[in-house]
Amino acid sequence: MAEECLEVYREFACDRFFNPSALAVESLQVSKQIAETEKFFLKKLDASEGTVLFTGCATESNNLAIRGSLRKGDYEYVFSVGEHPSVYNVGKKLESEGYKVFFVPLDKNGKVNLTELEKVLSEKTRLISIMQVSNETGAVNDIEKISLLKKRLCPRAVLHVDGVQGFMKIPLSLRKTEVDLYSFSAHKIYGPKGVAGLYVKNKNALKPLFEGGGQQFGLRSGTENVPAIMQFRKAVEIIDVEKNFKNVSSLKEKFKKVVSSYGVRCVDFGGSPYILNIVFDGVKGETMLHALDEKGVVIGLGSACSAKKAGNRVLEEIGVSRNDIISSARISFSAYQTVSEIETAAHIIGEVYQDIKQRVS
Ligand code: PLP
Repeated sequence: MAEECLEVYREFACDRFFNPSALAVESLQVSKQIAETEKFFLKKLDASEGTVLFTGCATESNNLAIRGSLRKGDYEYVFSVGEHPSVYNVGKKLESEGYKVFFVPLDKNGKVNLTELEKVLSEKTRLISIMQVSNETGAVNDIEKISLLKKRLCPRAVLHVDGVQGFMKIPLSLRKTEVDLYSFSAHKIYGPKGVAGLYVKNKNALKPLFEGGGQQFGLRSGTENVPAIMQFRKAVEIIDVEKNFKNVSSLKEKFKKVVSSYGVRCVDFGGSPYILNIVFDGVKGETMLHALDEKGVVIGLGSACSAKKAGNRVLEEIGVSRNDIISSARISFSAYQTVSEIETAAHIIGEVYQDIKQRVS
């Protein structure tokens, strides 16, 4: 977490621990600050209208967006096969509950196949849920093009975008799109865990997941996590999207150069600079993960929520071979990493790989 966010926590968790729904003057001030923060987020999203709800995590935002858009009748729901489990598994659940659901395939670069998407969209489409940036591959979907498809083929459908890996990393101006709902999370942008947002273009078109005290327009009842919301705001205030993009792109290139010199294969899907897939030919990714953990280098195998399950749904859908999937790992870059840290990590990864490879062959 960014250092600056820690200070904000103290202010709102200790000195100003007021319930925004209470009537004391201090409470009203906190409530006002939350309302201002909502406007602040709308501005950052470059949205011309709408509301921002604060939730407990993007998993909640995604569930609220999808379940809150369900309607009775002869409707269809469209997802991509590359979605994060907090969207994909909701789609699967809806299918098992009897809803008509389509899962659109990806192209070889990990993006949603727009030709296939076009084929399933119709007047019956109630919801399209497609991510901005893949957490597995870093592939970036063209939300503006998807918006045009929606406008042409199903103007009354709701377009939900899981923007968790894109928010404050890959610019997207909501006013240039047809996006109705957009999920984003604080802990991907150096803010705290346990707080996220959901942009809602038309709050009358969304139904809440649970009933309660009616906070946040009745769409997300429950006392707001004020310190975390204010930390989330601080994280956004201090972020420099362009500078980070440039720095992280350069870190990624330096990393690729060093690990490649050890024979580690980089499979860069060419989207977000924050994510890179690498393949350890002849060695399991899991073996590398544990060996590297001991040396202080932390890598990922798949989405953290699904890493314990065998295989990788998203890579499989793109057509990556079983062998490559078993030998692959995912590297995440941060704007707070230095060149020296990245190069040291890359050398350690390369050396550990060479060592294990020699022993297993
Ligand atoms: N969507 C994407 C694309 C993600 O990468 C993640 C987290 O990794 C989530 C949703 C879930 O976010 P949260 O951990 O805030 O529930």
